Amino acid sequence: MQELKKCPLCNSDASVFTNKYGQEVVTCSENLHECPISLVQFAVLSWQIRPIEDALQTKLDQLRADNQALVEQMNENAKTMQRFLEVQKAAFLRLLEWNPGIAQDFVVLLTLDIEKGNSHEKPDSKSN
Ligand SMILES: [Zn+2]
Repeated sequence: MQELKKCPLCNSDASVFTNKYGQEVVTCSENLHECPISLVQFAVLSWQIRPIEDALQTKLDQLRADNQALVEQMNENAKTMQRFLEVQKAAFLRLLEWNPGIAQDFVVLLTLDIEKGNSHEKPDSKSN
């Protein structure tokens, strides 16, 4: 027998027992004051049927898989970016060694470009 699902109302464990008609039935293990489901007896098969929960669980499993795939893609992108930055750093250090003046001009131009990029971002951030 598959594991009994929790009570649909209070999420407590289910209790299985044989009723006075000799039928195996299931109900909520909580007492009446805690959960009114404990007043009702269900056939085990009926207790286990949860179409909405099953659909939500399927959707949740899909979302978790999608999320995992996105995390893996982001980690891969971060590794690619790290390799790119290491190559750029090595190239810059070679340039600095070869011609410090050009390397300094490069840094100035890069800084101006970054500042120009930042000034483009400011109107967007104010509009949000
Ligand atoms: Zn309950």
